[in-house]
Amino acid sequence: MTHLVNDPKKFAADVLAGFVRAHADRVMAVHGGAVRATETPQGEVAVVLGGGSGHYPAFAGWIGEGMAHGAVCGNIFASPSASQAASVARAAHAGGGVLFGFGNYAGDVLQFSRAVEMLAEEGIEARILTVTDDIASADTHAERRGIAGDLPVFKIAGAAAAQGWSLDEVERVTRHANDRTFTIGVAMSGCTLPGADAPLFTVPEGSLAIGLGIHGEPGLSEVPLGTAQEVADDLVDRLLAAFPDEAGDRVAILVNGLGATTYEEQFVVFARVADRFEAEGFTLVEPEVGEHVTSLDMAGLSVTAMLLDDELEPLWRAPVDTPAFRRGSLGSTTSAPPRRGPLPQQAGAERTAGAEPSQRAAAVALARLDDVVDALKENEAELGKLDAVAGDGDHGQGMVLGAVGAADRGHEAAAAGVGLGTLLREVGEAWAESAGGTSGALWGAALVAAGERLGDTDAPGAADVAEAVSAAVGAMKDLGKAELGDKTLMDAAVPFAEALAERVGAGEDLATAWSAAAARATEAAEATAQLQAKKGRAKTHGDHSVGHADPGATSFALVCRTVADKEG
Ligand code: ADP
Ligand code: MG
Repeated sequence: MTHLVNDPKKFAADVLAGFVRAHADRVMAVHGGAVRATETPQGEVAVVLGGGSGHYPAFAGWIGEGMAHGAVCGNIFASPSASQAASVARAAHAGGGVLFGFGNYAGDVLQFSRAVEMLAEEGIEARILTVTDDIASADTHAERRGIAGDLPVFKIAGAAAAQGWSLDEVERVTRHANDRTFTIGVAMSGCTLPGADAPLFTVPEGSLAIGLGIHGEPGLSEVPLGTAQEVADDLVDRLLAAFPDEAGDRVAILVNGLGATTYEEQFVVFARVADRFEAEGFTLVEPEVGEHVTSLDMAGLSVTAMLLDDELEPLWRAPVDTPAFRRGSLGSTTSAPPRRGPLPQQAGAERTAGAEPSQRAAAVALARLDDVVDALKENEAELGKLDAVAGDGDHGQGMVLGAVGAADRGHEAAAAGVGLGTLLREVGEAWAESAGGTSGALWGAALVAAGERLGDTDAPGAADVAEAVSAAVGAMKDLGKAELGDKTLMDAAVPFAEALAERVGAGEDLATAWSAAAARATEAAEATAQLQAKKGRAKTHGDHSVGHADPGATSFALVCRTVADKEG
């Protein structure tokens, strides 16, 4: 349970504000996260980490010399938006390019990839590096999700950057580190999102869930809870089996507590892990025991092994000085880097007024958006539960945060007299930013695409609306690359767009056509219960999801119905 909470929806922001206050000599807040408060040498590669919040010290706790230059901080367990990632990267950039590092989750991949494109347009070269260490999540290394291996992999990236390596070289060695990093975790209890009254999943008393994620994704199998030694043996056996043939004989070991497992238990487990690795002929190099990548109040721990070689070992041992992770000495304290000056303000976009018919259409759209906010709030808990079956339980929260942020921005824009196209574009940007997560990125892109199709001049007719919906769904497809049948929101969105276009094409009025299309979307969303998830977070737990409808498809249909109720 997370006990000390103000507004649960602002919990991540409150955490960041306190963190920045506590470490004001080292870090400063920027839009979307935090960066070093000290100067970075000109030309040094900026390592920008990120992902959802709820994992402290990952990721902001690792901002400092020898490790990260900035961290993007999304909502609890939700990926940050592309514009947040770009904002932090801009502030961290010192002329040497940017390496974004994050765990391999669909939402993060979408958002950080988009940030790379945004930065390229401004002349900043950025790359993405996904950590894929969780051996329980997939057989192929590249498809695994990222968990506690973040620590050693990002340590390597930060050390290489600090030594003045080029962006190509920092990226190469970090990929190499990731290829040689393996983690397996166990949980004894689930974690509870701030403000929620029940954990995202539970582990039966006396059992141990193996292969859990760090977002409250359930474990892959449950076994009876043994002694610390038995648990350690099981984890080490699984790691050894996952190692490549050329494992070498030197290893960085991390025993990582997930948030509610005592350091004492972690040390007991570590001792056995160390014995076992030494018995296998390994030398342990600067091992770490403690909380590094947490999952709110989850009880459990993981064991990570990074197989060292001549290139990785000096980087692993190199000094680092961050709020949460320190090692060695960076030289005399008198040569501490100078504080950087205040950051330049990022200019807000100018708004131009739309033509009157388009302004009126914008007012109608905004009223519908307000209804959508209410409907999502009513269904927030239900959508969260659906997402907890095989995902991370945050879909209800993400949709509400997205819609609320979108509506707030929409009202500002409408007050400035914008037309429908600009309204939808702004609303889409705000949705992606406020929601984070995979669905936030997709809804944001969809609304922006619809806005671009509709423009700021004319009141749209039924055919324009149908085309804008097709453009919106097309943008979701381009970004998410999901196929029909993958059990995603596309399974509701595509039938919706097709039905709307067909009926409008056959001459039906917009209200009738929209209602019928919303009914199609609802049936299609319900039918996703039969499918197995193939995309997004839920794919790791594909078969858990059979029998339950996809959360994103369910909320898509809900939004369509809510808009239909008021249509006409
Ligand atoms: P996250 O998975 O980042 O936690 P949410 O929980 O808000 O994001 O949304 C989950 C939903 O996103 C899924 O139920 C699914 O409908 C949708 N989704 C996931 N990946 C994709 C994708 N590649 N394309 C389309 N929709 C997707
Ligand atoms: Mg989710």
